[in-house]
Amino acid sequence: MRYRSGMTTAAIIAVGSEMLGPTRVDTNSLKIAAALERFGVSLARKSVIRDDRGELADEIRFALAHSDFVITSGGLGPTADDLTREALADALGLTMEVDASIIARIEERFRARGWTMPEVNKRQANVFVGQMTLTNERGTAPGFHLIVDGKDIWVFPGVPHELEWMVATYLVPWLEARSDGRARHKRVLKISGMTESGVEEKLAPFYEAHRDEPLTILASGGQIELHLFADGEEAEARALIAAREAEVRALFGERIFGGDDDSLESVIGALLTARGETLSTAESCTGGLLSSRITDIAGSSAYFMGGAVCYTADAKVALAGVDRELIRAHGEVSEEVARAMAEGIRARFGTTYGVAITGIAGPGGGSAEKPVGTVHIAVAGPSATKHRKFLWQGPRTIVKWFSTQSALDVLRLLIVRE
Ligand code: ATP
Ligand code: MG
Repeated sequence: MRYRSGMTTAAIIAVGSEMLGPTRVDTNSLKIAAALERFGVSLARKSVIRDDRGELADEIRFALAHSDFVITSGGLGPTADDLTREALADALGLTMEVDASIIARIEERFRARGWTMPEVNKRQANVFVGQMTLTNERGTAPGFHLIVDGKDIWVFPGVPHELEWMVATYLVPWLEARSDGRARHKRVLKISGMTESGVEEKLAPFYEAHRDEPLTILASGGQIELHLFADGEEAEARALIAAREAEVRALFGERIFGGDDDSLESVIGALLTARGETLSTAESCTGGLLSSRITDIAGSSAYFMGGAVCYTADAKVALAGVDRELIRAHGEVSEEVARAMAEGIRARFGTTYGVAITGIAGPGGGSAEKPVGTVHIAVAGPSATKHRKFLWQGPRTIVKWFSTQSALDVLRLLIVRE
């Protein structure tokens, strides 16, 4: 693999007609691209090809001619529209044979679940003569590592969790072995509670100081990611990244909530676990999305005691102990009611913190005074109740997501300042 004299290039082919329709998208290539990026391989091309043997064979030939190696995903299933094996044989002039041990393995997988193997699954035992077959511990379809005319072709199944396992098990060690200890190192820092332009503005002195160094800003789902990169030998690259991270942290302080794989909910989980503190929720317009996100974290039962979806005024009174008079005076979507929900749920569950969300997700229900997208968030803690008001724009799902995002952020800041 080359690093100094021109980068190694790769091409990814995602196989499956379903990804050309309006409902499914190719996400496997993102996982593969992340692995390539780590080892400084430049992605020259990626394509989505329908289940057509001839077109797939053409694409394989084209991709091989225009890059150093190729990775395919999908089309290894047992059904007649899974044609990747045949297309590879056509494109590369390979011969296939049946591997009886694979049939036995697939039969065993079915037997372990109390099923018998359908006859069609035998197709998945077709392997390439003289080439490497890759065992798939997560599914029935084996993958392949083919080497033809000195070029490598990696063939992986399409089911995402199977593909991820294959990439981690086979592709990453291969990339690592070829990278000669040199790789692209990356550190992601995550920021909440700021806009992309706000982040950009704050970064101005950093840009000034390091004009030639790569830094990417990515906004998505109500948070901003800063990607720092350094190429080269591990210790040296890591040291450079650590130095840059310190500079960025000095600019953003507690606005940086985590790095790499952290999410607001995982960071909050770690904080609460470390402090032995607990949490409860009272949600109106988010309908349980906040508690759903909190419980996405393994081990959340240690700190999440429960929550209530208080979708009506009656529910706010009955489940979160809100005073009916307060609702009459200020309306369900108000600072006063948000605060009362947070304090009420905290008291009912006896938790360290109580988080409340009440708002208008739309598209109906808005008024001049309280337009659609108005959301009040309150977090009650041992020494204070924090409140913030937001005005989101977009469909219900967006209003709901951003509301949980800011509720988690208000909670995180209250915990770290507590
Ligand atoms: P297996 O035999 O293990 O099922 P396969 O290679 O036959 O694997 P496919 O039949 O092509 O895989 O796809 C299986 C599932 O994975 C489908 O639901 C498909 O939509 C999904 N899938 C396939 N390719 C991708 C991709 N590139 N990104 C995301 N999902 C994908
Ligand atoms: Mg398919």
